[in-house]
Amino acid sequence: MDDRTTDCLLNDIGLGVVRHDWTREQVQALFALAFPELIYRAQSVHRRNFDPTEVQISTLLSIKTGGCPEDCAYCPQSVHYDTGVKADKLMHVDAVLAEARAAKEAGASRFCMGAAWREPKDRDLDKVCEMVAGVKALGLESCATLGMLSVAQARRLKAAGLDYYNHNLDTSPDYYGAIITTRTYQDRLDTLGHVRDAGIHVCCGGIVGMGESAEDRVGMITTLASLPVHPESVPINMLVRVEGTPLATGQAIDPIDFVRTIAAARITMPKSVVRLSAGREDMSEETQALCFLAGANSIFYGPKLLTTPNPERDRDLQLMDKLGLVPMS
Ligand code: SF4
Repeated sequence: MDDRTTDCLLNDIGLGVVRHDWTREQVQALFALAFPELIYRAQSVHRRNFDPTEVQISTLLSIKTGGCPEDCAYCPQSVHYDTGVKADKLMHVDAVLAEARAAKEAGASRFCMGAAWREPKDRDLDKVCEMVAGVKALGLESCATLGMLSVAQARRLKAAGLDYYNHNLDTSPDYYGAIITTRTYQDRLDTLGHVRDAGIHVCCGGIVGMGESAEDRVGMITTLASLPVHPESVPINMLVRVEGTPLATGQAIDPIDFVRTIAAARITMPKSVVRLSAGREDMSEETQALCFLAGANSIFYGPKLLTTPNPERDRDLQLMDKLGLVPMS
């Protein structure tokens, strides 16, 4: 794409305006901007909508680990891959609430509970609803990621007080079939619709570095930014390669391309919180700082993200301190 084409495509994008009619060409033009121009635009949008020194902090707990029947190619919890992750039963409500209390004391404002299910069974949902109510009673925002949801299940979670539901699109519609075969892209969009209709905030993003092309990253951001309502929270993950999964080996994504994806998310979804999610353990401080400059304003805090490592709390506190960042109030 030459400079003139990029200029034409970007002339009328209405920087900072919430739009749902993003075209692939416009998003591609954002990705193609000179890096300083892209960061400048992302930072400008960010400052119009958020305090650029504030970072929202969430903690994620695996409440039911392993044994998942889905075949997501990146996931150590799938039964299809031999990764050494042991299948556990759903945790007891009291144990989950003890973890939530500890997360609150460590500075988290949101507590996310993840279960490795294709979809929850109704008897499991009873317990998850108790967990949600308990998390809320502690004064924390609650979030869950439990797989696909029916309309009725989404309503039950809402009635229990659930604030956010995470369900990622993972990648572009075109590349999706190379990553997951046990559920369709449309299944994911349907669950997102049920969650939205139930009045629960949506947390939805994807993973980069899975061997997708630059066009796939454009496709993923275009799809997210074209949802009827933007997800309130957009986690952008860098693939964590786990031995035993089909994506255990492969070319790592260039960190600058990762930062470009964050910036494109920030510009196209101006009012959403963009979360710098999995993959921070292997990311330099400089890359993380660039992500914050590009408009990321949320992290997961705590030494583990479900089954994969995350930076130790002290390391995060030091980095935030070094960058002058504070937890979002
Ligand atoms: S990502 Fe979720 S749905 Fe996919 S295999 Fe892992 S736990 Fe199951």
